Amino acid sequence: MTIINFSKIIPLSKQKIKILQINLGKRCNLTCIHCHVEAGPKRTEELSPEVCQQLIEVINRFHQIETVDLTGGAPEINHEFRPLVEAARKVGKRVIIRSNLTIYFEPNFKDLPEYCAKHQVRIIASFPCYVEKNTDTQRGNGVYINSIKALQILNKKGYGNNPNLILDLVYNPPMPKNDNFILIPDQNQLEKKYKFFLKKNFNINFNRLFTIINIPVGRTKKYLQNQYLYIPYLEFLESNYNEFTVPHLMCKNQLSIDYHGNVYDCDFNQMENIYATNQDGENLTIKKLLALNNLDTIKTIKTATHCYGCTAGNGSSCEGSLI
Ligand code: SF4
Ligand code: SF4
Repeated sequence: MTIINFSKIIPLSKQKIKILQINLGKRCNLTCIHCHVEAGPKRTEELSPEVCQQLIEVINRFHQIETVDLTGGAPEINHEFRPLVEAARKVGKRVIIRSNLTIYFEPNFKDLPEYCAKHQVRIIASFPCYVEKNTDTQRGNGVYINSIKALQILNKKGYGNNPNLILDLVYNPPMPKNDNFILIPDQNQLEKKYKFFLKKNFNINFNRLFTIINIPVGRTKKYLQNQYLYIPYLEFLESNYNEFTVPHLMCKNQLSIDYHGNVYDCDFNQMENIYATNQDGENLTIKKLLALNNLDTIKTIKTATHCYGCTAGNGSSCEGSLI
């Protein structure tokens, strides 16, 4: 029986919304074993033009939105990806694209590095380990070498070198094989190792490394359940709860939007169908927020046991460690 003490991290209050994170759907050219979205080439779910127009209206209308963060799946695959990038950049928003890098080698996507550089979007790229075997185990054979080639292309376009072209990498720990769990490594130390290795072996430059823990939702959750490690993993995360991470949680000031236009506190809640609600308990959609002309109707963040992933050790978020 679980001994998880859920009370440690509730309640959490929402702050003024500054980040719009849009999950454009579940289509992806890869099928990584840790994917919390359970994305892949056979998935078809994606953002509709109608919801895209609503999101563009939000981007144009609300000056409080500083950053538009595009994720998926592989967000670049979606037809509405470029209209969103261009609308956000036109009104001066920072745009983040969460890229798997290998998408550049798929037909019709070869121009992406050029496109991203032209629009000065920040790329946060999955690169779970600088050791080839570890990356390919998580993400599929050949992913490492294609990622290296993609990073070299991005460097040639100015990414990682030009201060307006930010290229960050993401480390994910390998999936646990037993209950000998470990916390993610120190981000700054690991960044030094990544930088040294990639420069020495491939002449690659990048800006920051973000260490992101495996949150137990999606394929990670299924994997853990299949290995009978799900509850032990939650217990491990809970036992490493760090209250100092809480003020910095990414859900504090962001809205997460799915391809239907539903609103959540974060992408993990989105995958668990934990909808954000207003004070009357009504589920929110981007259409409703537009009708209310108010992005700040959520008072309390919805928490669940997977939140212990964000609060363990130095904490974890879409931009790495929290402290
Ligand atoms: S982790 Fe990223 S690259 Fe891998 S399947 Fe999921 S969305 Fe695609
Ligand atoms: S999973 Fe993390 S980001 Fe999402 S609501 Fe929980 S603490 Fe916040």
